[in-house]
Amino acid sequence: MTAASRSDSVRGRGQATGGRRIGFIGLGIMGSPMAGHLVAAGHEVTGYDIGPTGLEKLKAAGGSAASGVAEAVRDKDIVITMLPQDEHVEAVFADVLVHAAPGTLYIDFSTITPKTARSTAARGIEKGLRVLDAPVSGGEPGAINAVLSIMVGGNEADFAEATPIFEAVGKTIALVGPNGAGQVVKAANQLVVGGTYALVAEAILLMENLGADAEKGLDVLAGGLAGSKILELKRASMLKRDFKPGFRIDLHHKDMGIILQAARDAEVSIPMGALTAQLIAAARAMGHGSLDHSGLLKVTEALSGRES
Ligand code: NAD
Repeated sequence: MTAASRSDSVRGRGQATGGRRIGFIGLGIMGSPMAGHLVAAGHEVTGYDIGPTGLEKLKAAGGSAASGVAEAVRDKDIVITMLPQDEHVEAVFADVLVHAAPGTLYIDFSTITPKTARSTAARGIEKGLRVLDAPVSGGEPGAINAVLSIMVGGNEADFAEATPIFEAVGKTIALVGPNGAGQVVKAANQLVVGGTYALVAEAILLMENLGADAEKGLDVLAGGLAGSKILELKRASMLKRDFKPGFRIDLHHKDMGIILQAARDAEVSIPMGALTAQLIAAARAMGHGSLDHSGLLKVTEALSGRES
């Protein structure tokens, strides 16, 4: 089903389509607001995180806190993970395999390698689970406002069952292929986002150092063919050098690793992606890993000896 055809038949976001018992593991920047939307949509949400903050927020939103993965997963219709990277998903999924009942629908919203997504799905299906990889795009504002883009890998029937869950947290939702395909599309997304940040950073530096009004210049760029969501949402904060995350450079560095590995597996050449990966690695090496990924501008400045 495509995003366009889906939008003809959707139930309103936030509307009570609920009644499912959901275990939600990983209540960080993204998972916390997403779990809150599922509660608001009428679902019974039990969350687990190794840190206390997300658990407190979930309880305040009307969900309940589990003491571990086993409790979060047991007797649930749907189990969701929203974790940093492959090793976290693999560790939690090992417990999901033990404690989830056959027939449980497992949805992983994390961004991980297509390879791990495929092997997770194969292991889950072998144990009688139904599995979807469903990485998201749209950042923290997208999660807070329930307008995430969701790219889903799996089969039609599981996608149809998960659609009310996706509609509670997202806006543009598409089944893009079999298990792992969601992660492939997410890799493509991160490639474009990283490369765009690198070029916007260079455009800012150029304008600021050649006597143009960079603020007005970016307004013009945003309204023309160079326009992008990044220019729309991030140009003001980039000009102010406000790099509060958002999406951390550390996580984008992880994603660039996924992209380069995927290109290698597919035997395709992505020189722009390789260059972007080096710039993001440099940002991390300079100690900017916990800044927003728009902080790539600091690398562009450093390369020209113009640190702000
Ligand atoms: P985050 O670090 O804020 O949240 C991850 C949470 O997982 C943390 O609260 C952490 O305590 C918890 N966690 C780690 N290991 C755990 C375990 N074993 N058991 C239970 N909880 C555990 O990260 P985030 O920004 O929410 O990102 C989550 C995923 O979403 C990542 O894969 C990221 O790449 C992806 N993503 C993030 C954004 C964004 O803008 N932040 C946008 C799109 C996709």
